[in-house]
Amino acid sequence: MGEMGFFGANLEGYGCAGMSNVEYGLVTQELERGDSGLRSFVSVQSALVMYPIYTFGTEEQKNTWLPALAAGKKLGCFGLTEPGFGSNPGGMTTTARKSGDEYILNGEKMWITSGSIADIAIIWAKVPSDDPADENKVRGFLVETDRPGFSAKDVHGKWSLRASVTSGLVLQDVHIPATNLLPGTGGLKSPLMCLNQARYGISWGAIGAAMSCYDTALQYAKTRKQFHNQPIAGHQLIQEKLVWMATEISKAQLLSLQVGRLKDAGKVGHQHISMAKRNNVWMALEIARMARDVLGANGITEDYPIMRHMMNLESVKTYEGTHDIHALILGQHLTGIAAY
Ligand code: FAD
Repeated sequence: MGEMGFFGANLEGYGCAGMSNVEYGLVTQELERGDSGLRSFVSVQSALVMYPIYTFGTEEQKNTWLPALAAGKKLGCFGLTEPGFGSNPGGMTTTARKSGDEYILNGEKMWITSGSIADIAIIWAKVPSDDPADENKVRGFLVETDRPGFSAKDVHGKWSLRASVTSGLVLQDVHIPATNLLPGTGGLKSPLMCLNQARYGISWGAIGAAMSCYDTALQYAKTRKQFHNQPIAGHQLIQEKLVWMATEISKAQLLSLQVGRLKDAGKVGHQHISMAKRNNVWMALEIARMARDVLGANGITEDYPIMRHMMNLESVKTYEGTHDIHALILGQHLTGIAAY
């Protein structure tokens, strides 16, 4: 994928492909048509690791990491979520304490994609300070995963995103040079900017999973015969399902295309991205369930990709802001009242 320019595809320079946001979206759509785990891997490397280095990093940090990450020679992960703080990352307890020309990190991160295979972790931590204006400000740090005190342990027994590595991270007195701070970060807004990049790609990716389910259902319906030796595709209720799927996929594509065009024009708002992520993942899950139904009993087997997509999409519905948290983001945008 590094050779094909998929990592950090919508970034310019440093070995990145410099695609438009619409082109990048089409890449994620096709990757997730294969598997959400594959797309997650690319989203994390691109939107959650390369984007923060690109946006908040020094020239030296960019030159050190971006070309290697773009080529896939180095892998990264993004540590925001903690065991006790998922939807509300502002409550995080991980700290980065300044000591001379070092920071010392302590804390625990959970549900971290690619955690145990990453060379570099972007760790979000609160920085204690004597200055009340700066006290406990969330900042981002580059943490090389071979530093003493850093450990990663994989989550096993997942029924979802089985093609993706998910890990818990422990940081116990991890010393990093002060130059590993991403200097442009400051406050929760910084990780949320990264999440918006990833959520945009997810809005396209979920369409790919839906397309795979729809294609499978369509092909199956044309060959499976029930009643009067007639393909089930010739029954009105099956046709209605196929039409609903094709229509919802088209609407989702138009939504993400418009959001991508706004993003390319520098006019996108976080509310546009929340709407696309929330709608398109919901749409894909509905299509997965409907497509499974069209396949009858065969739909539950691993001979067809539908159940795999369905299970994957349960994670996609939860990560990068749950379906309901995006409803609250949109609700706040519409009403001006935060309901978290
Ligand atoms: P909670 O926040 O505990 O939410 C549980 C439920 O309560 C949800 O339905 C939620 O919508 C609801 N809820 C919460 N607050 C409210 C409220 N105020 N009002 C109404 N309802 C509410 N994180 C990373 O940092 N890096 C990663 O690479 C990463 N990869 C992941 C990979 C996978 C496979 C998964 C499953 C998760 C990953 N995550 C990652 C974590 C993910 O972002 C969190 O799971 C997500 O933010 C939700 O947090 P939570 O699981 O703690 O759920």
